[in-house]
Amino acid sequence: MLLEVKKLHGGYGPIQVLHGLDFVVEEGSVTALLGANGAGKTTTLRAVCGMIRVEGDVIFQGRRITGMATEEIARLGVAHVPDGRGTFMELTVEENFKLGAYTRRDAQVQADFERMWEWFPRLRQRWKQQAGTLSGGEQQMLAIARALLMRPKLLLLDEPSFGLAPLIVQEIFGIMRRIREESGVGILLVEQNANLALELADRAYLIETGHIVTSGPAAEIRQDEAIRRAYLGY
Ligand code: ATP
Repeated sequence: MLLEVKKLHGGYGPIQVLHGLDFVVEEGSVTALLGANGAGKTTTLRAVCGMIRVEGDVIFQGRRITGMATEEIARLGVAHVPDGRGTFMELTVEENFKLGAYTRRDAQVQADFERMWEWFPRLRQRWKQQAGTLSGGEQQMLAIARALLMRPKLLLLDEPSFGLAPLIVQEIFGIMRRIREESGVGILLVEQNANLALELADRAYLIETGHIVTSGPAAEIRQDEAIRRAYLGY
């Protein structure tokens, strides 16, 4: 198992947001966390990558990482693409790529750049452009590419569709499908758009007020009557 989370509790100071979550992400799979605004999805990603103090067990590749520093967790192979993107706006696309790969000492960096150009041709076209001047969709692509250049084993993606036009969202989800198929990176995806998330995901968990209320293979969750009514709109 790539990631196992058990009895995860946490929040912000005295405010408890997560009330004992259990979930897993298998190697090379996409796991979606669904739920309404404020359910605790973003907080869950922050908990996994060490941004907030939590109780319980976060086990990454068999190793307990609960309480470790964010940098240490990142070094082990967990990359986080926060909501609001997380690119360096004043730097160019090229510089953002280089920052993504800067801790790496292996000889594959150039090959990975080329792979990113193949997955994200728009970024190659805008290589010398400042990230802050890219469209929202391109910034999202850059944030994902930068995270992948760390060669993570697990990618935490927070609302990649947020604020983007439907066509761009389709493009980004298409790229995510390729990432899963061609790279073997596991993805933990937080997404408001449950239809899209369930089309892509292998497994999904539904969070309500810091509790997991439903989980299962994405194909089954899509058929669930209550979920269809509340989250899929049909
Ligand atoms: P959304 O899609 O709206 O981001 P979410 O499911 O990701 O929803 P979270 O962002 O995890 O929800 O928020 C869960 C709860 O934690 C909310 O009640 C929110 O107000 C609270 N919260 C989030 N960030 C903080 C913070 N930095 N300080 C205090 N409370 C916070």
